[in-house]
Amino acid sequence: MRVGGPAAYFAEPVTEEQLSKLLEWSQQGGLSHFILGNGSNVIFDDQGFQGLVISMRRFQNDLIKVDLDASRITVSAGVSLARLVRFCQESGLAGAEFLAQIPGTVGGALVMNAGFSRHSGQRNEIGDLVEEVRALKATGQPVHLSRSDLSFSYRHSNLSTYILLEATLTLWRRSKDQIQQEMTANLNFRKTNQDVHEPNAGSIFKNPGPPQPSAGALIDQAGLKGKRIGGIQISEKHANYFVNKGGATCADVVALIKEVQKTVFHATGITLEPEVRIISKN
Ligand SMILES: Cc1cc2nc3c(=O)[nH]c(=O)nc-3n(C[C@H](O)[C@H](O)[C@H](O)COP(=O)(O)OP(=O)(O)OC[C@H]3O[C@@H](n4cnc5c(N)ncnc54)[C@H](O)[C@@H]3O)c2cc1C
Repeated sequence: MRVGGPAAYFAEPVTEEQLSKLLEWSQQGGLSHFILGNGSNVIFDDQGFQGLVISMRRFQNDLIKVDLDASRITVSAGVSLARLVRFCQESGLAGAEFLAQIPGTVGGALVMNAGFSRHSGQRNEIGDLVEEVRALKATGQPVHLSRSDLSFSYRHSNLSTYILLEATLTLWRRSKDQIQQEMTANLNFRKTNQDVHEPNAGSIFKNPGPPQPSAGALIDQAGLKGKRIGGIQISEKHANYFVNKGGATCADVVALIKEVQKTVFHATGITLEPEVRIISKN
């Protein structure tokens, strides 16, 4: 979304050794750290972050291992979702197509339990595919989490206290053409419904869930499409997207979130819960 202040320290580790050294260094210096993926769903406070931000987007970002017999892949947390989906398509493994246009890394998608479906009432989420996860505890201690240790719900997981290193996903065999067709159908749907060109963070609010209308429909029905505070505006195309019209601040985003919550609550009694993560703790 291109808002928010700077980090005191910022690092992009490529190897596990570099990551461990960074954790050690921040602990020794008494610095807090924040693990970032691609930053697609995170908004930092205008004051910035007075600690170490560790971005995982370059972390082993081409590491994907495949076991075709078992229809299983093991993928680094730093791999982009676009690369993961392309790899699966080329390997004839289906199940991950819905992730193709979601900007971000595998690690961020796991923490957020990212998902998408062009069919209403259907939820495709990355959590459904996960067999196991390799991670570090915040202290740096390695840990293996098997399926029974993991819990996923709508845009939520029990993984946010870990530093994710890699995940094993179970997929299924399908022809490359059929996988490509599914990807193209998703792309066309998103182009029609969500094609937003200005800086944004995707959906700002979670959908309240059936039988309630989507968050976008509630915001639209409340007459808020196009509403602007400072540099931030509710998209004219998709009411659950906020777009940076230039010079927006985190304070503008927070003010617009509150304004939407207040207006929608008065109109419907529904409290919209943010999906984006606003990081203001220093
Ligand atoms: C245009 C647009 C469209 C979008 N469409 C969708 C959509 O259809 N569906 C959907 O679900 N989301 C969507 N999003 C939101 C976003 O892309 C997803 O939430 C994505 O999974 C975030 O990945 P990321 O790597 O950018 O994570 P970040 O935004 O960087 O981080 C998200 C969370 O994960 C944590 N995290 C990231 N990596 C790690 C790691 N390795 N270890 C531990 N914690 C980590 C962060 O601390 C943070 O809490 C969209 C966003 C945009 C901008």
